[in-house]
Amino acid sequence: MPGFSTRAIHDGSDFDPTTGAVVPPVYLTSTFVQDGIGGLREGYEYARAGNPTRDSLQTLLASLEGGASALSFASGLAAEDALLRAVLQPGDRVLMTNDVYGGTHRLVNRLYVPWGIGLSTVEMSDLDAVRAELAAGVRVLWVETPSNPLMKISDIAALAKLGHEHGALVVVDNTFASPYLQQPLALGADVVVHSTTKYLGGHSDVVGGAVVLSDEELAGKVKFVQFGGGAVSGPLDAWLTVRGIKTLAVRMERHSSNALAVAQALEAHDAVERVYYPGLDSHPGHELAARQMRGFGGMLSVQLAGGAAAARSFAESTKLFQLAESLGGVESLIGYPAEMTHASVAGTELAVPENLVRLSVGIEDADDLVVDVLEALDSLAAR
Ligand SMILES: *Cc1c(COP(=O)(O)O)cnc(C)c1O
Repeated sequence: MPGFSTRAIHDGSDFDPTTGAVVPPVYLTSTFVQDGIGGLREGYEYARAGNPTRDSLQTLLASLEGGASALSFASGLAAEDALLRAVLQPGDRVLMTNDVYGGTHRLVNRLYVPWGIGLSTVEMSDLDAVRAELAAGVRVLWVETPSNPLMKISDIAALAKLGHEHGALVVVDNTFASPYLQQPLALGADVVVHSTTKYLGGHSDVVGGAVVLSDEELAGKVKFVQFGGGAVSGPLDAWLTVRGIKTLAVRMERHSSNALAVAQALEAHDAVERVYYPGLDSHPGHELAARQMRGFGGMLSVQLAGGAAAARSFAESTKLFQLAESLGGVESLIGYPAEMTHASVAGTELAVPENLVRLSVGIEDADDLVVDVLEALDSLAAR
């Protein structure tokens, strides 16, 4: 099989046979002419059911994650919703990591629990605690690693084994790592979900999501929810995502080396209490991350010695790191989770420390990024 970068550039995107165009056109069409009633060309009928541009993205995602099939959606949460609707019945319970993406928690807690689904959270690094929860009956074990915003690392292979011993479907949200850094299906997980909005798209210009899996029966059920529920990705969004993915490998390498440089600079500064980056030796998940990932990614968080005031001020004073939600784009972003990305989980067991700042390290020049965070930290001390 060709290598990752080769597949990222070629899979699902053959040149256009009509004109020879190297980049296949975007199929901006909602419907397809039939050669006589029911005479479909390549199976295409109506674009909610299938569109060649969406198929090109789906083929590519399946290849990169090592799944038999992939389905792409209008957002990461739409993808998660389709998967959960295909799997869950009233009375089933979902077990999530205790610092799961807030929107995922909200999806199940606010939209599924009222329909009779149970939801529990657990410290995923504590395998005994996970085992005890599984023994009480769990339909879906939802793993997210690295997690957000504390970059906790969970052992995918161990959790997959444990989940399967108890009959649970093991799902990994692979958004933070991307398939370049981590391939959960190869480690034993059943399903991978993505917010393609983040590293896969990579340019902060499109919202999307995906489900990747190998079990044909389950794939059929999710595909039916995609068709029947209709939260598909549009052709232009799918095309932008394919375009972004072509550079995924080089971007992830650069995100990882830039993030390490920024993490080291932060760790050495007096205004910093603690840095959470799996690439640092000081990170409790460092060795596990080194084992199950090919690099440590572009996300890190930092706790400031000066408390909430210092954290807010730091997040507002960088210049290259722009203050915005989201992550995974070529440009560096900074955020204050307690009032931005994690505002919806304030007061719950998912609440985050008030002196925490999260950085999505982009692919600008590392030196410029380091200078930017150091100047912002120095300005705190001067205040
Ligand atoms: C952003 C994100 C999601 C949700 O994706 P959307 O595209 O915003 O719907 C899910 N999981 C993680 C880890 C995310 O960062």
